[in-house]
Amino acid sequence: MNDGEAPVAARRRPVLRPRRWRAAIAALGMAAACGSPPISQEARRIHARAPVVDGHNDLPWELREKWGSDPRHGDLREPQPQFHTDLQRLRRGGVGAQFWSAFVPFDAERSTLVTFLEQIDLIRRMAAAYPDELEMADRAADVDRIRAAGRIACMIGVEGGHAIDDSLGVLRLFHALGVRYMTLTHNETTSWADAATDVPRHGGLSPFGEEVVREMNRLGMLVDLSHVSVETMRDALRVSAAPVICSHSSAAALVDHPRNVPDEILRAIAANGGVVMVNFFPGFVVPSAAAVVRQALAHRRELRARGLSGAELSQAMEEWRVRHPMERGGLKDVCDHLEHVARVAGIDHVGLGSDYDGIPTTPVGLEDASCFPAITGELLARGFTAGEIEKLLGGNVLRALRAAEAVAARMGEPGSRPAGARSGGG
Ligand SMILES: [Zn+2]
Repeated sequence: MNDGEAPVAARRRPVLRPRRWRAAIAALGMAAACGSPPISQEARRIHARAPVVDGHNDLPWELREKWGSDPRHGDLREPQPQFHTDLQRLRRGGVGAQFWSAFVPFDAERSTLVTFLEQIDLIRRMAAAYPDELEMADRAADVDRIRAAGRIACMIGVEGGHAIDDSLGVLRLFHALGVRYMTLTHNETTSWADAATDVPRHGGLSPFGEEVVREMNRLGMLVDLSHVSVETMRDALRVSAAPVICSHSSAAALVDHPRNVPDEILRAIAANGGVVMVNFFPGFVVPSAAAVVRQALAHRRELRARGLSGAELSQAMEEWRVRHPMERGGLKDVCDHLEHVARVAGIDHVGLGSDYDGIPTTPVGLEDASCFPAITGELLARGFTAGEIEKLLGGNVLRALRAAEAVAARMGEPGSRPAGARSGGG
C-alpha cells in the first residue's frame, strides 16, 4: 500500500492492433481490461492448472476508504472499475489464493492496533460475504482444497510491524485471526526494525525485533521482508529458522530503488528457501519511473522539512505529480524482474506480488487482477517450462508456507514468551 509517494501515471493509451484485440476479447468472452495480447492455448492450460498465488493486494484499504469498510456496499461479483480487483477479474486472472493486505499507515504519535484489527476483521467479513467465491485458508494444504471446490483461498498479510505495538501477545493473536505473514516495517522505521525508505535506527533489527522473528517462526507466520532495509533483511535471514518472503518487491539490479531487493539478498533468500514475489508497480520495475519516485520522495521530505503536513502536504504532492508524469512500462518490464530473480535466486525462489489496489498506476498489459495469464504467456514465450511457470505462479510460496508450518510444529507451542515482552526486553 502507498507504494511510492507515487506520481500519477501519464495517461497514455496502450498501443494495440484493434482488430486482433477485439477478436481476442470475443474469443475469451471477457471485457476489455488487460492491454496484453491474447495467450496461446498451451499458456492458458498451464495457467489454469497452476495454483496462482498473489502475495499482496490492497483492496481491503480501498474498501475501507471507498465503501465504508462494508464489503457488501457494492457487489464484488460485479465489475468494479474503480478498483484493480473484483471477483470476476480474480477469476479471469486464474487466482487460486490471495494474500489480502491488512495495511494501516504508520503513526509515530499513537497506536494503530485498533485500525489493524478492523482491517483484519474486514478481510474476514469480505470472505464471509461471498461464500461461493472466497474462503479463508488456515494452512497451505487448505489452498488446494479450496481451489478444488472452485473458490479463491484467502490469507491475511499484516503490512507493517508497527501493528503489534511491541507486543508478542498481539502477534500471537494476529496468527489466531488468520494472519499468515507480517511485513516487518512499512515505509517508516519502527521501534524494532529499520525500513528501506527511512532513517535507520537499529542497524537492522533490534534484539526485540529478532525476538519477533523467532516468535513468527514458532507460530508458522511468514516473515515478510518487503519494505525493510537491507540490514534488516540480513538480520532476519540470520535469525529466521523458516523460509522468508518478500511479498511485493522487485529487483534492485534492474531498477535502482531502495524498495527493491539487491542480488546479494536474492541469493541469501535462495539459501534460506524463501521466495521473492515481484511487485508490478512501474515505479519499481521501470528505471525512468523509479527516478520520478525517488524525486517525489525527496520533494516530500523537503516539503515536510518546510513544515507542510496533512491536507496541505497531500495537495502540494498532488500538484507535483501532475507536473511529473511517470512512464508505465509494460508486461515485459515485470517479466524482466521475474526472470532476473529466477536467474539469480533460482526458479524455486520467485513469485508474484502484484500490489494491486495499493499502487496508483499499473504497467500496460497488467492493468488489473484479470491480467495474470499474460505473465504465463510471456514466460512461455521466453522459454520457461510449464513446471517452472507453475512454481513461479504460486507453487514456490505454498512450499515456503508449508516449510514455515513444519518449523512451527518442530518449535512447539507458541506462547512460551510472556505477552508483555517489550521492545529492548530481548
Ligand atoms: Zn507495500
